Amino acid sequence: MQVLLVEDNSLLAAGISQALRAAGFNVNHVSRGKDALAAIKSSQPDIVILDLGLPDMDGLEVLRRARQERYSNPVLILTARDTTHDKVSGLDGGADDYLAKPFEIDELLARLRALERRLGSSKSKDLQIGGVSLDTTTLEVTVDGTPLLMSRREYMLLKALMESANKVQTRDMLDSKLYGWGEEISSNAVEVHIHNLRKKLPDGFIRTVRGVGYVIKSV
Ligand code: CA
Repeated sequence: MQVLLVEDNSLLAAGISQALRAAGFNVNHVSRGKDALAAIKSSQPDIVILDLGLPDMDGLEVLRRARQERYSNPVLILTARDTTHDKVSGLDGGADDYLAKPFEIDELLARLRALERRLGSSKSKDLQIGGVSLDTTTLEVTVDGTPLLMSRREYMLLKALMESANKVQTRDMLDSKLYGWGEEISSNAVEVHIHNLRKKLPDGFIRTVRGVGYVIKSV
């Protein structure tokens, strides 16, 4: 589970990051709104924890722009502004949850797990494109009903591409979905897995966007 933490208080950010990593989340931290938008766009984190008082931009503006760019995963707002007005505008602006500072780290973890479950249930639908279907419960992939054998990383790569059908996935995006941050990645790992996947899938199913990445078209 990739979490993007957007928080300009470096002490608080370090504390949250450490607690989240200890709880098994992969955490990427940025402290500015501009960097948050860039990270959301490039790595499509599973969950964003967003402070509202950022040095360069209001957190609600970050949220608004992210939703405009069709970022649809959960966003949890974190702020000292404990007023009903801010709470309502945060939720109206597309936030999924809201936590007022100061908070207990255990409460943050509980909220994240709740969002994770919601994310999991919305993502656990079967994926089907063309004759290829991927069952996220049994982890089975079939082509026209015939089961395919694949490695865990091939499966994860195919799932990432099918979940984001019609949206080009860059090598970096796929890398970050395949491996935890900080884990060693051999430079051509994604290409190798794509190469192996293509041998199993119908011709042209995974398309290369030259110099950018890969895409699966559903239409
Ligand atoms: Ca702040």
